[in-house]
Amino acid sequence: MRLDAVTLRLVRLPLRHPFVTAKGRQDTRQAIILTLHTEEGVGWGECSAGSVPGYTPEKQSDAWDWYTDAAQRHLGKQLPDPKAFFSSLDVHTHLGLPMTVAGWEMALWDLQGKSVGKSLAELLGARRRRVSVGLALGLFPDVKSLLDAALQGVENGYRRLKIKIAPGHDLELLDALRQVLPEIALQVDANESYSRADLPVLQRLDDYNLLLIEQPFPAEDWGSHRWLQARLRTPLCLDEGIQTAQDARKALRSGACRALNIKPARVGGLFSALEVSRVGQSHGALLWVGGMLESGIGRAASLALAACDAFTLPPDLSASDRYYPQDVIIPPFRLNAGGTLDVPAAPGLGVVVDEKALEHFTVRKEYFGRRRL
Ligand code: MG
Repeated sequence: MRLDAVTLRLVRLPLRHPFVTAKGRQDTRQAIILTLHTEEGVGWGECSAGSVPGYTPEKQSDAWDWYTDAAQRHLGKQLPDPKAFFSSLDVHTHLGLPMTVAGWEMALWDLQGKSVGKSLAELLGARRRRVSVGLALGLFPDVKSLLDAALQGVENGYRRLKIKIAPGHDLELLDALRQVLPEIALQVDANESYSRADLPVLQRLDDYNLLLIEQPFPAEDWGSHRWLQARLRTPLCLDEGIQTAQDARKALRSGACRALNIKPARVGGLFSALEVSRVGQSHGALLWVGGMLESGIGRAASLALAACDAFTLPPDLSASDRYYPQDVIIPPFRLNAGGTLDVPAAPGLGVVVDEKALEHFTVRKEYFGRRRL
């Protein structure tokens, strides 16, 4: 397929509720949505990098520059398939701009699926048509607000909850949650906010029957994760700390964790995510797909991944209306009774982009091509 044009859009999607973690607060979500135009059709991709470093050091402005350069270099040329694209990346690009390359790769998967008439889920080897999904709740200003949100989520049909914790916002939240929802499948995410000095609190987390404890210590501090895992019954899960299949192998072999949160955006795309999942499977790790508050475009890609057999825990992928009053796809993702989402079955990402809504949320746009579309 020849690349005829590229459209880059910076979109600002209003969130239904602010999303707060140990690293900051988001009232809107910014993302770059890219469109690769070919004679056979268009491929859509989404880049989750933030406007400033936060979850990882990667920035939107770097992604925009990389896309500009890629558009100019590839215009008029044949596009590689996703595997060839991933293989062509040098290690600095993969490790330095994983969300950027994941966005471009997503558009290549979309194009590939559309050209052969297969859904992304089929291309990835996924067999599930529905995925049981979990709800991720940010940090709340008080316990009552958290309980209200959790109970609302359960009433809406979610069967697994994840809450954010941080030093001083942990045991009290869990005590309150377990009182009202003693049986709900529950996990916590600390976003790197603890240190070894917090051992007494972290060991108490074993009392709450948690599925896992995510990323208590800084990403690079595997030694402390290994040290803590040896003192806990609950599996530790790495998120920020894992970027490649080699990272996953080392972390699991060394005992730094027993579970992996696999986000295509963090590991450089779906091809890399599959590689990480194979390593996880071979070590018997608990695997699940994390979320980056993706719009319906990125969410479709993550949902296809989560439909693969390797992923045994529910992903952080909610219905569109959980986060956004208006999504950029028609129809939006809706939660089925029983807390599942349907995996898109149409070719490529399998969703229809609402271009009017997309235009409405666009705050910057650039087009690269020889003719106006
Ligand atoms: Mg996390």
